[in-house]
Amino acid sequence: MYYSKSFIPTLKQSPTDAEVVSHKLMVRAGMIRQLAAGIYSILPLGLRVLKKVEQIIREEMDRIGGQEVFLPSIQPAELWQESGRWELYGKELMRLQDRHDREFCYGPTHEEVITDIIRREIKSYRQLPLLTYQIQTKFRDEVRPRFGVMRGREFMMKDAYSFHADETSVQDMYENMKQAYSNTFRRCGLDFKMVEADSGTIGGSFSHEFMVLADSGEDAVAFCDACDYASNVEKAAARIPAPVPPPKKLDDLKKIPTPGKKSVEDVTKFLKVSPQQIVKTIILENENGLVAGLVRGDRQINPVKLKNLIGCDWLHHAPESLITSKTKIPCGFIGPVKLDMKVYADHEVAVMHNFVTGANTKDAHYTGVQFERDIKAAQVGDLHEVQEGDPCPKCDKGRYQVKRGIEVGHIFILGTKYSSSMKANFLDEHGKENPMIMGCYGIGVGRTAAAAIEQNHDDKGIIWPAPLAPFQVVVIPVKFEEHSQRAACEEAYKILGELGIETLLDDRPERLGVKFKDAELLGIPLQIIIGPKNLENGQIEIKSRKTGVSELIDFPAGLQDIPNRLKNS
Ligand code: ATP
Ligand code: MG
Repeated sequence: MYYSKSFIPTLKQSPTDAEVVSHKLMVRAGMIRQLAAGIYSILPLGLRVLKKVEQIIREEMDRIGGQEVFLPSIQPAELWQESGRWELYGKELMRLQDRHDREFCYGPTHEEVITDIIRREIKSYRQLPLLTYQIQTKFRDEVRPRFGVMRGREFMMKDAYSFHADETSVQDMYENMKQAYSNTFRRCGLDFKMVEADSGTIGGSFSHEFMVLADSGEDAVAFCDACDYASNVEKAAARIPAPVPPPKKLDDLKKIPTPGKKSVEDVTKFLKVSPQQIVKTIILENENGLVAGLVRGDRQINPVKLKNLIGCDWLHHAPESLITSKTKIPCGFIGPVKLDMKVYADHEVAVMHNFVTGANTKDAHYTGVQFERDIKAAQVGDLHEVQEGDPCPKCDKGRYQVKRGIEVGHIFILGTKYSSSMKANFLDEHGKENPMIMGCYGIGVGRTAAAAIEQNHDDKGIIWPAPLAPFQVVVIPVKFEEHSQRAACEEAYKILGELGIETLLDDRPERLGVKFKDAELLGIPLQIIIGPKNLENGQIEIKSRKTGVSELIDFPAGLQDIPNRLKNS
């Protein structure tokens, strides 16, 4: 591509709303432009990168027997009502009506559509297993679209769905997927971790996420520093504490005035106790009303763990107005003693003695609280969020490390969640009808490209891993208008083309400094600089974007080695 003919609208300034470096650089490098919140146009340079990601994904899906399909983006409401997700998915689902007032949605994911096809077409165990995938636009009306294409509302996803006759078959596929995903992200040049994950609204029984470690990540990943246990913090298990023998004499329950002392910090100072002697009562709301979760004063409750313990459809922190209107107790003084709602306690709370809680009246706390004597919990479970330094639940030696991560891929074993509700059955070898066992597997295409930038950039711009680079080489003449340089550039361009290398030839009548700045911003792995002095000696300069190291090579013979250099760059 000749730069003068290309459409690469680079910018000096970052957009004011861009919080993360990948968003800034994708806009500055002329890869994307925003149309509306979370909705982006992909410009030529951006599309070249997305196509690279797609191609790697496609090859890895094909390698494990995936067959590519292309499903409609608009889906009828009936299918979602059948699976039960029309209600459950909430506001993230973009709903629309056609001219006959029929309800549809813009697909945020495609389990319903593919299950509908498979239940019509597949009848026998002989036709299973089956793996289909597509690479397609999704729409999710995200509460907080941000970070450019990393959390867009309209975005490209690879979604794969598999159908099986038995448990062993889906497990085999799951292992193949883990391998295919690891290959994909390795080939994209990413430093990633595979972690255990919660299954969320997609549902199902078992899942892993692929996390690109980066400070800008929206997720927190906890992993053991001694064994290979790694999990999304949403799911990371806490080690169950050993029972603590009670003191010889347990204190009596005592109500103490604590005027205006609402936070754990206020109460610890006022009563001169440590946060580990306080039990926090967190009020959450689910489809059945309000519930209370108890964690130690120095801990945060993990709503995902509590949701899974209760087994409810949804759960979130209740708004303060709802809590006070229902309980008539001001927030900051709520406690579990004789509280009129279901109480769920963290394991750590169950081994505490003589602790402090809110007293369910304004300006008062209880001291000397005892777990079973004073508090009737519906259930005790693992409810707190793990922190850096906590002991690993899986091995004896390890401690948790916690780092930020960008979720680029997610794989699930769905079991029969969709096949049961949507009656996707097959006949087994005894002629008996069974629901198919399913798996589903997603990769965010744009998010993967953005994550690559988060991990590979400097203050000058992007540093593309060669497999994702929009062009692998940029040819930069000192002065294109000068005859011998122009001839050398065109020859280099031709030879590189014959070697199958995507090359950008900067033929613009710009100052050399401008050309270098743009080459660095665009992040092209190798620059070939063609100037009069070197040419006289039959040489040209090549410079690596990543290391900044330059070297002279013979022209044109040295160009034959460029494919090799790219492999190592
Ligand atoms: P998140 O927790 O980030 O919202 P999710 O669990 O909703 O992700 P999945 O439904 O598993 O995501 O989707 C599969 C993949 O699609 C994700 O791993 C991610 O790479 C990508 N993805 C999901 N939501 C978005 C989005 N809003 N913008 C860009 N990519 C996304
Ligand atoms: Mg989501």
